[in-house]
Amino acid sequence: MTHKVELKPDERESLDWIETRQDHMVATLRDWVNINSGSQNADGLEVMRGKLSGAFAELGGEIRAAELAPTTIVEKNGEVRQQAFTPSFHLIQRPDAPIKIVLTGHHDTVFPAEDSFQSWKMRDDNIMNGPGAADMKGGLLVMLHALLALERSPHRDRIGYDILISPDEEIGSLGSGPVLHPLGAKADIGMTYEPALADGSLAGARKGSGNWSLKVTGKAAHAGREHHLGRNAIVAASQFALGLDDLNGQRDGVTFNVARIDGGGPPNVVPANAVVRFNVRVNDADDQAWVLAHLERLTDETAQRNGISAEMFGGFTRPAKPMTPANAQMFAWTKAAGSALGLDMKWNATGGVCEGNNLWAAGCPNVDTLGVCGAGIHSHDEIVLLDSLSERAKLSAIMLMKFASGEFDAKTARKLARGEA
Ligand SMILES: [Zn+2]
Repeated sequence: MTHKVELKPDERESLDWIETRQDHMVATLRDWVNINSGSQNADGLEVMRGKLSGAFAELGGEIRAAELAPTTIVEKNGEVRQQAFTPSFHLIQRPDAPIKIVLTGHHDTVFPAEDSFQSWKMRDDNIMNGPGAADMKGGLLVMLHALLALERSPHRDRIGYDILISPDEEIGSLGSGPVLHPLGAKADIGMTYEPALADGSLAGARKGSGNWSLKVTGKAAHAGREHHLGRNAIVAASQFALGLDDLNGQRDGVTFNVARIDGGGPPNVVPANAVVRFNVRVNDADDQAWVLAHLERLTDETAQRNGISAEMFGGFTRPAKPMTPANAQMFAWTKAAGSALGLDMKWNATGGVCEGNNLWAAGCPNVDTLGVCGAGIHSHDEIVLLDSLSERAKLSAIMLMKFASGEFDAKTARKLARGEA
């Protein structure tokens, strides 16, 4: 599965061209980092989507706004409402080409509009600190420049691609997930631009993840006069939370995290409302089934024991992405492309999740940490190594050009995946 790759003169020329764009990438990244596009900042997300349309227009192709369906969320007070999303950015290039690739990313960040972290700052000549600098505004520029290099290749017509850049990755892709799925289902392979670690290593196998809210409805009563008539939602929620926590350690690699309990009110009232929020991580589909059975049992037990009603919202939004032969083939190509640049590409399993999980759920083999090298993501210490902008753009460009020339046969990965699905 390991390949030795040599670069052809036209491929070298495309890579040299990427080098000429390094300063342009840095300037664009600074501009983008200074735009707040927190997942809840609709105005900022739309400004960013406008910036993407401007920059990605250089590729040609058709640019669309992909509308996202709203999702159901449970408020702190137990009220259930619909949450709307701004559109994803979607670019379609040569949809009838024989090889189909889907490239994905996100333009939201974890930093809200009121956060104090809003602009870039240099730490040294090569290290820039800034919100979303690595995760993943830098990665979006890596994706763009790899594709611009492909567009200079004589074999580009053999590859068609969809680019989907979404406003809701950091909050679980609940809106964009259903749009991503059919793109993954029809593509031979997927390339996603989450950051690599500062040492350049990629994420390999990923766990699966799900988020839930349990809405508990009891019965309010005066704490002094009619305490016996009340049905305490907080007590029931607490029992449920303890039951969940007891499941930790019962199955290898499966974790339950009780994240938050909302509810209750004044001390003289038996509380009628509570909401329990939790996250579960799993290794595979068998784990998922085991988890779902336990969640149902715990919900029923809690409701019966306390004489309350309990309603569950949520589910597994990012199924596990194991290192199957199809995904391993993608890494073999990444490693081969890296070796042509003198890079020794490595990867490690992670409990973290991203759009790569969603692509694999659609049967699409993928590498999902093709973005910049960085560190401290989701914190005020988020940094990007600026020289990784062109380094990683070249890495992806080599892969794309080899897929186009047929030296890497993208269809073999999808064939492997079919046997594994
Ligand atoms: Zn990200």
